[in-house]
Amino acid sequence: MQEYRKLLLANKAWAQEKLEIRPDYFLRLKDTQSPAYLWIGCSDSRVPAEDITGTEPGELFVHRNVANLVIHTDINLMSVVEYAVDVLEIRHVIICGHYNCGGVKAAMSRKSYGLINKWLRHIKDVYRNYSRELESFTDPDARFRRLVELNTIEQVRNMAETSIIQKSWLKHGRPWLHGWVYDLYTGLIQELTLIRPGDLPDDIYRYEFSPELP
Ligand SMILES: [Zn+2]
Repeated sequence: MQEYRKLLLANKAWAQEKLEIRPDYFLRLKDTQSPAYLWIGCSDSRVPAEDITGTEPGELFVHRNVANLVIHTDINLMSVVEYAVDVLEIRHVIICGHYNCGGVKAAMSRKSYGLINKWLRHIKDVYRNYSRELESFTDPDARFRRLVELNTIEQVRNMAETSIIQKSWLKHGRPWLHGWVYDLYTGLIQELTLIRPGDLPDDIYRYEFSPELP
């Protein structure tokens, strides 16, 4: 059997299983979704968002990229965020990094990987900002783990610094911004940071909105 066929067979079994538990399992979600959470995670195959959070279809609005980065010029991510905040009215944004992240590891090296250098460059910036702390670690693995954490915390700050989030805070008092890290060895998630609505880390990033301007 061709390898990919097993996915289609597993899909049939999964759909059947859901219907046995709840006959309207798919019908109830067919026309609408109202997820409470926007999940921004790494593309890594070992971090399946729904599985590790025990969530069902309809609960998480998901965006994944290499090393869960929040970059203001990323039109793909920013479109997802705006839609999630303005249309879906999500109440929590969760940015979840993970230990042993290949993207973070690559950014810590001097190796050139081609186009992705430009993406990983943002993690090098995080490293530079925290170089004193990071270089105080003698154990390279401990340094790697800390950069995974700092990278996640910085992405939560990046999210707070978008006008999309700030406008929603002003108008609706949501969403909360969470930074989590997932441990591949234990399967457990740890909370790293939380930014509540209106709680901007640095005033220079605070936008003043006027009715005429977007
Ligand atoms: Zn990763």
